[in-house]
Amino acid sequence: MRTIIEKIDRAQLNSEESTNIIKKAGEILKKGGLVAFPTETVYGLGADGLNENAAKKIYAAKGRPSDNPLIIHITDMAALGRIAKKIPEAAVRIAGKYWPGPLTMIFEKTDAVPYGTTGGLDTVAVRMPEDDIAAAVIRAGGGYIAAPSANTSGRPSPTKARHVKEDLEGRIDMIVDGGPTEIGVESTILDMTADPPMILRPGAVTREMLEELAGPVCVDKAVIAPESKERPKAPGMKYRHYAPRAELCIIEGEMEAVADAVNRMAEEKFACGYKIGIIGTDETLGKYKKGIVKSIGTREDEAVIANRLYGILREFDEENVDYIFSEAFPTGGIGSAVMNRLLKAAGHHVIYI
Ligand code: AMP
Ligand code: MG
Repeated sequence: MRTIIEKIDRAQLNSEESTNIIKKAGEILKKGGLVAFPTETVYGLGADGLNENAAKKIYAAKGRPSDNPLIIHITDMAALGRIAKKIPEAAVRIAGKYWPGPLTMIFEKTDAVPYGTTGGLDTVAVRMPEDDIAAAVIRAGGGYIAAPSANTSGRPSPTKARHVKEDLEGRIDMIVDGGPTEIGVESTILDMTADPPMILRPGAVTREMLEELAGPVCVDKAVIAPESKERPKAPGMKYRHYAPRAELCIIEGEMEAVADAVNRMAEEKFACGYKIGIIGTDETLGKYKKGIVKSIGTREDEAVIANRLYGILREFDEENVDYIFSEAFPTGGIGSAVMNRLLKAAGHHVIYI
């Protein structure tokens, strides 16, 4: 299959050129095809979420296990009523503040949603993204677009159109290139069928932000526990995920001690002929002696770290490194989402110094 790749200028979304690209994307989606498009979190791989055959194509293109449900993306509250039932008052309050935005909520599904979209579950995950290009594509495609991250299953999520192309060119109908994504890690997932509501995956909308609106909110134990111990409530979170091809190890502890330990381990691997990558920060970059050293950003700003995470993992893949050593990062704000993804990418391989 030939994949159409179209660049779109988000500053000129109303131009004739942009309108034609969105129209084309909408036609493909309405016919049951696959279109990747940017959202504020990561690039999504869209299909008509109410068309079981279309949703199934997503699983085939990504190599995604069929029990890993898809999030349906909408652009208005009226659409929510068609796909979800028993919407609690707290959800309406949360939606009032964080929709559109990087938050997914889980509800009981209506009959309009095929089991092929929900991985056989009676619940449905719903998000209203803020990105203007995403909203335009969703509207053009009929308003109910199932869209998981547009990567091959298991690989780091795409934050640039180039990443989507690397993984999915030839397997999907179209890529809408809207430039790099703003946030860089996937949405927070909040299960509204639980009482109190439960975070199944951390993201840019934090527990504190949600508790301010909805009272107590729990966090699924599997968010931080190694996968063998806890079975996550979000089926997708049980798979090895977000992972580079190299073996990734996180080293956690006081800054100087971490640098010393990384230098020692890097030296050992280097002596055996391996290629090493190191993920440091602006504050620590000068401390590392061997290997390809990259700064993920400053320790002062978790949002920058979130934004760089997947890109750095993919860069190390391109450079064919065998081992990646990474610092652990601050967990304030979106930092807990960063550490959740990094731990999964490392298969929970952490050395505490
Ligand atoms: P992705 O779209 O690739 O970021 O993955 C979507 C995530 O949402 C996966 O971890 C899914 O398991 C999770 N998810 C989607 N629908 C549901 C649902 N109904 N219940 C629990 N988790 C869900
Ligand atoms: Mg994903």
